[in-house]
Amino acid sequence: MKPVPKEGILDMPAYVGGRDAIKGIANPYKMSANENPLGASPAALAALEKAFDPSVYPDGHATALREALAKLNGLNADNIVCGNGSDDILQLLAQAYLGPGDEVLHTEHAFLIYKLASRATGARPLAVRETELTANVDSLLEAVTPATRMVFLANPNNPTGTMLARDDIVRLHAGLGGDTILVLDGAYAEYCDPQTYPAGFDLVEQHNNVVTTRTFSKAYGLAALRLGWGYCPPDIANVLNRLRGPFNINQPAMAAGLVALEDQGHIEASRSHNAHWREWLVQQLGGIGFSVRASFANFILVEFDSDQQAAAAEAFLCARGVIPRGLTAYGLPHALRLSIGTEAANRAALAALTDFVAEADAETGK
Ligand SMILES: *Cc1c(COP(=O)(O)O)cnc(C)c1O
Repeated sequence: MKPVPKEGILDMPAYVGGRDAIKGIANPYKMSANENPLGASPAALAALEKAFDPSVYPDGHATALREALAKLNGLNADNIVCGNGSDDILQLLAQAYLGPGDEVLHTEHAFLIYKLASRATGARPLAVRETELTANVDSLLEAVTPATRMVFLANPNNPTGTMLARDDIVRLHAGLGGDTILVLDGAYAEYCDPQTYPAGFDLVEQHNNVVTTRTFSKAYGLAALRLGWGYCPPDIANVLNRLRGPFNINQPAMAAGLVALEDQGHIEASRSHNAHWREWLVQQLGGIGFSVRASFANFILVEFDSDQQAAAAEAFLCARGVIPRGLTAYGLPHALRLSIGTEAANRAALAALTDFVAEADAETGK
């Protein structure tokens, strides 16, 4: 006899993150995890330096942080639930609302956590066909069955960088049953144009089955602190608050997050750095023969002619001190994801890819 975990758990591959080190290379450019190359707001770093008493429990309701998030985004603080990273919110949603016999929809090349969080509950995640690496609302709606309980959509999506417009999201929601939750994952929202980004907060307020999630890990540059949040209809907030760990947000994360929210100048600077270098990389890579599709996030998808070429390019880049994200686990073995980095990182990545292409051309006699 031995302890047996719930069904589904041993079918899950463990999550493997982007590489962060290369043997023999001291300070590689890590372009594999979509981190902010400008780092965190200096004010947030200063807040982390401030003394706090580690013997005292943090505010289990994250009240100040929720109020600040509500003020910044024009939301109701009561319906914000904070998480230990937004992964925490995604996991809580799955745990609270999914079980054996339930079906979950996500797009073909979606963030891996959707699949893992669903499987952990015994539910069945289904990957739905995309068009041009973009979520296809018709296909998603065709995949809906009476067993569908949750639909995860990252907007923009990781790792494709593509995005749905508001009309598409509204149409997707309208085709779901009232007992099916639409989860809009806005991990890269801050990189989008604030005037036109379809945040979906209004959908959360108008319906009882839409949740949006956000994170401090990407544009806010606070990935190590593990801080994220969800905006939920009241009943779902109530459920997540019962299920979550009572002190799931630690004190330094709350303190730094609060100050980071006040420094929107840092977010604007990060957005503009990202837009500038993303455009530059797309153009330059176009010049050496890659057709890189438009990305709305802080990374681009570089596609190769074959899986072998992508693997060779990954090894070539790593040997040059540039770490991309291989995408075999995402069903895109012919592509690499490259986070927009510092100017030096972006130039190093371009130089390495230029040499890679030249060597490949020399070999094939082009
Ligand atoms: C990075 C990322 C997250 C955020 O993860 P955290 O747990 O908040 O660090 C969520 N969704 C997507 C699509 C991501 O790429």
